[in-house]
Formats: sequence, structure tokens, C-alpha cells
Amino acid sequence: MQADKLTFSLEDSSSLTNPSVTRFPSPIADSKYTEEEKIALITEHFAHILEILGMDLEDESIKKTPLRIAKMYVQEVFSGLNKNNFPASSFIPDQDIGSRNSNTVFMKVSFTSFCEHHFVPFHGKAYIAYLPNKKLIGLSKIPRIVRFFAKRPQVQERLTAQIADSLSLLLETENVAVSIIAEHFCVIARGIEDAHSDTITNHLRGVFETDQEIRREFFEGINRTRH
Ligand SMILES: [Zn+2]
Repeated sequence: MQADKLTFSLEDSSSLTNPSVTRFPSPIADSKYTEEEKIALITEHFAHILEILGMDLEDESIKKTPLRIAKMYVQEVFSGLNKNNFPASSFIPDQDIGSRNSNTVFMKVSFTSFCEHHFVPFHGKAYIAYLPNKKLIGLSKIPRIVRFFAKRPQVQERLTAQIADSLSLLLETENVAVSIIAEHFCVIARGIEDAHSDTITNHLRGVFETDQEIRREFFEGINRTRH
């Protein structure tokens, strides 16, 4: 393995060190269907759900809703169920790893995911920091990794852990922190119908867990960029 470039096999799904699976895997079973078959079957089944609910599927406005939902599920909002969609990552060797406080990489990424308990969206911001070990990841790659794990039925705690673990595996460092602040539509639109509740989850590793000063800087960074 070269220091400036990490490659891993996508076939190697059983590996505990696969950054597209992580050590916090989602409950994903092998699917026997192709993408086209999935769209056709979900269309059929969703039409059935609308019919059972008592909707008129001949109506122009909702006629194509089952197909729209099937395409949205397979091609967009749940595309992260397919580990082949994990973004290709390239790395830049870090030439200047001297003073460790000064070169923390900090980033804020917005995302939308789906609560796996209610199949409605939750959306928010992921705050990510890492202290480079041997390499830096291209800044555009971090949002792609966040969105890969967000585009599947999720729980916020697992999403937070998966992003942290994936980056930790890719960057070969334990010094990674992820904090997610999100609003859940299963809380806003149903149940207690609280429109103003944020859920915060943190996954702190390495120095972000053990070094108070570095942890404080991380949470200050969040407060500074939050609004
Ligand atoms: Zn929910």
C-alpha cells in the first residue's frame, strides 16, 4: 500500500476494514434484484399501498407517483445501499505534519437521510474534523462520503459512527471527530409534532476524545459555523 494512495477492493465486503462498510454496518442483506427489477417491483408494490389507502390511481396527479417513488428510492435517496456507489478517494500526502494543533481539518456538510424506523427524512449538518496522519483527503470527497452513508435508511447515531469510522480507515488515523445536528420529520410531522427539536450525536476518537483542548476547539468550531 502506497502512502499517498489507498486502494481497497469493493468485492471485499466482509472485511472489517472496508471504508464503504465500516465497523458499524447498516442492516443490509444481499439483494437478488437488478436496479431495473427493483424499480419495477417497488412501483407495483407502492401502487398497491396507495390503492389500499383508498387513492384513485387513475387520477393524473398521482398516476405516476408509484414509479416516481421507486426511482427516487433506488436511484437517489437510497443509492447508498449499493456499496459500489462509495466515492473513489484520492489522497494528498501531508508534507507538513509538525505542530498538531495547527493543522486540524474542519468541515461542515449538509445532508438529508431517511429514518429507518419511519421512512421519512431527517436532515441537518455533519461537522467533521480530523488531524492528518500521513495524508489529507480531497475536501470535495468528505461531502461525498457523508452523502453516501446518508443515502440509505438510517439512524443518526449509526450515520455519525459510519462517517467517523470510514474516514478513520481511509485516513489511517484514530484522530477523527464527527458531530451531527439534525431535525427528524418523524418528530416534526407525527408523534409529538415538535417542530423545534434538534438531535445531536457525537463520535469522538483519538485526541478528540482524550485531549480537552482539541475537543474544545472542535465544539467551538461547530458553534462558530452553526448559523
Ligand atoms: Zn423515525
